[in-house]
Amino acid sequence: MTSSLAPRLPRELFATGVQVVTIAPLGPGVVAHRYATETRQVQDDVYRARPSGRTEIYPVAACAEADADQGYPCSLQWAAVHGAIACTEPKCFPEAVSA
Ligand SMILES: [Zn+2]
Repeated sequence: MTSSLAPRLPRELFATGVQVVTIAPLGPGVVAHRYATETRQVQDDVYRARPSGRTEIYPVAACAEADADQGYPCSLQWAAVHGAIACTEPKCFPEAVSA
């Protein structure tokens, strides 16, 4: 399989300003996922593991499991400019399979 067969990000979404998330820093062949967020509790005291009651919102891939790595958000168009390819999971860009 060559990179020319990689699923391309859907061009019809470029104008919408939709956000995507990459798990690795942006570059050629990096997979772009649909943007989602996950809310996690912040622990102030790591030694006692006492919940602080505060939460933070992390950008994650829409197809990610719970507690996935935090992703790098950017616009879909910006990701495409850098050669990112589309994640074809049902929660991301399943329409991008045929490029
Ligand atoms: Zn995905």
